[in-house]
Amino acid sequence: MENVIIIGTGCAGWTSAIYTGRANLDPLVLAGEQPGGQLTTTTEVENFPGFPEGVMGPDLMMRMQQQAEKFGARVEYEMVSSIEKQDDGTFSVKTTGGNDYASKSVIIATGASPRYLGLEDEMSLIGKGVTSCATCDGAFYPDVPVAVIGGGDSACEEATFLTKFASKVYLIHRRDELRASKIMADRALGNDKIEPVWDAEVREYLTDEEGHVRAVTVHNRVSGEHSELEVKCVFVAIGHDPNTQFLKGSGVELDDEGYVVQNGHDTKSNIEGLFSAGDVSDHVYRQAITAAGNGCQAALDAERYLAALEG
Ligand code: NAP
Repeated sequence: MENVIIIGTGCAGWTSAIYTGRANLDPLVLAGEQPGGQLTTTTEVENFPGFPEGVMGPDLMMRMQQQAEKFGARVEYEMVSSIEKQDDGTFSVKTTGGNDYASKSVIIATGASPRYLGLEDEMSLIGKGVTSCATCDGAFYPDVPVAVIGGGDSACEEATFLTKFASKVYLIHRRDELRASKIMADRALGNDKIEPVWDAEVREYLTDEEGHVRAVTVHNRVSGEHSELEVKCVFVAIGHDPNTQFLKGSGVELDDEGYVVQNGHDTKSNIEGLFSAGDVSDHVYRQAITAAGNGCQAALDAERYLAALEG
C-alpha cells in the first residue's frame, strides 16, 4: 500500500514529490505521456526564480526530478486510466499497462495541454516561431512583427503583453467580434501596436531557410481571400484542455471546462484523500512557479491527511 501516488511530472507533480519525499512518505510518481509537462516543450525559461541567467525548460524539469528522487520518490512511466475510491477509504489507481496500485492518498498533477490549430508541421515548429506562451517566449521576439491567434481573454492578454517587445502584434480571430471580457478587449483594441485581423483563419506556417517561421497564410472567411502576413512568431491562444479524461466516472468534481475543482483555500477535491495541483485545476495563472507552489500545497495537505489517518 502506497502512502501517496502523484500523477503527473510537471512542476506541480515534481514539487509534490520533493515535499512528500522529504516527509518520508516514499511517494510513487506516475509519469504520463509527456514526462516533464509543458516545460519540456519550451526552450529557455527566464522567469523561474533562482535562475538569473535563465534555464532550459527540459533541464529545469530534469533537476526537479533529480531532487525528488534524492528524497526517495520512485517513478513509473505509466499512464493512469482510472482512479476509484474503495470502501476501506484507499484508492485503486489503474494504469493502461494493466497495473493496479493501492494508495492511501492521491495527488493529481496532470496539467493542461494548450490547444493548437492542427496544421501540418505545427508541432515541429514549436520553439521555432510557434508557441502557446507569451509570458515564456515574448521576450525572444523584440522589434519584429508577431501574431496572436484567438479572441478570448488569453489572446487579448498575450497580445497586450507582447506589445512590450514586438514592433507590431496582429490579433488574428476567426470571427469579427472578440469573446474576451470588455476590459481585456478594450485594452487590446485600444493599443496602437495591435492590429486585429478579423474573420481570419491561419492556414499555413511559412518558414525561412533555417526552418523558423517567417510568415503565415491567412484565409478570410467572409471574402474568401488568401493573404500572407509576415510574422516571426505565432502565439496560439485558443484555449487549454485539462488532462482529466481519465477521471470521468471517478466521482471527482470537475468544472464545466473539465478542470478539477479545488476546495477553496486548499488543494482538496470533493473526495477525501484526493488532492490536485497545478494547471489541472488552474485556468487563470498557468505558470511554472504557480504550479510548483500549488504542488507544495498539495503535498502539505496530503501529509496532514495521512497524519490524521494515523490518528
Ligand atoms: P477561450 O475563452 O475559450 O477563448 C478561446 C478563443 O480561441 C476563442 O476566441 C475561440 O474563438 C478561439 N478558438 C478556439 N478554437 C479555435 C480554432 N481551432 N481556431 C481559431 N480560433 C479558435 O480561452 P482563453 O482565452 O484561454 O480563456 C480561458 C478562460 O480563462 C476564460 O474563462 C477566460 O476568461 C480565463 N482567462 C482570464 C484571464 C484574466 O482574467 N486575466 C486571462 C486569461 C484567461 P470563438 O470566440 O470563435 O469561439
